[in-house]
Amino acid sequence: MMSTVPSIFVSHGAPTLVFDPVPTRDFLRSLARTIPRPKAILCVSAHWDTTAPRVGSTLRPHTMHDFYGFPEKLYDLHYPASGYPALAEQAANLLDAADIPVTLDDQRGLDHGAWVPLSLMYPLADIPVLQLSIQSHLPPDHHLQMGRALAPLREEGVLIIASGNATHNLRDVFNHDMLEPPVPYAKAFADWLTARIVSGGAGDSDALLDYLRQGPNGHRNHPSPDHFLPLLVALGAGTGNGTNNCAGRLLHDGYTYGVLSMAAYAWG
Ligand code: ZN
Repeated sequence: MMSTVPSIFVSHGAPTLVFDPVPTRDFLRSLARTIPRPKAILCVSAHWDTTAPRVGSTLRPHTMHDFYGFPEKLYDLHYPASGYPALAEQAANLLDAADIPVTLDDQRGLDHGAWVPLSLMYPLADIPVLQLSIQSHLPPDHHLQMGRALAPLREEGVLIIASGNATHNLRDVFNHDMLEPPVPYAKAFADWLTARIVSGGAGDSDALLDYLRQGPNGHRNHPSPDHFLPLLVALGAGTGNGTNNCAGRLLHDGYTYGVLSMAAYAWG
């Protein structure tokens, strides 16, 4: 019998997180030791954004270097985890049953939102990985519902890991050094997010769905929704149906470039 694994949200920052001497890198390298070893990983990355949900279904997902202008050694990295076509089908069936139609995608590889954190967590790449896309043009609630539909997979030992950023104003990144302390506008949003999740009272998942208005400086911290929406999938997968609280745990609190909260959370 597999033990139930939590669902997790991690902030992936810049692709160079793999090398950068920042606390978040150390956190990700130690994270796997704190949770049951999963039989497979379903990753929801900010960097796969499609008009309708897609699930990667290839047995051999290639490593995508979906970024530009970074050091050469980053393009030499590969994360050779296998895929898991049967699990892709199972995930698609769960989503279909929740009236969320899904297409299987046997061409898609692993984008850096997936392989950057996974190469730190599971450097041997010996656990199968598949990805599910987000739909940034659809409402936040759609993502919460996708997560809820996938919740049963956790009982079968599937780690649902969402990868985005707790705050994500990329334009402001270039005004700051990597190890700078947090700027007030980003810290205010990340602290609000953590308080909602850690207190997790009734209705607090509604507050997270309304993050752009209720979160301090919501639009400034998330000029586009793609790095926030994965969190809602992890939330749904971790809390399941029939609850609108969002009680979870803060796993890690850190910043890079002053404006990127690298916060990570777990549910279940
Ligand atoms: Zn990203």
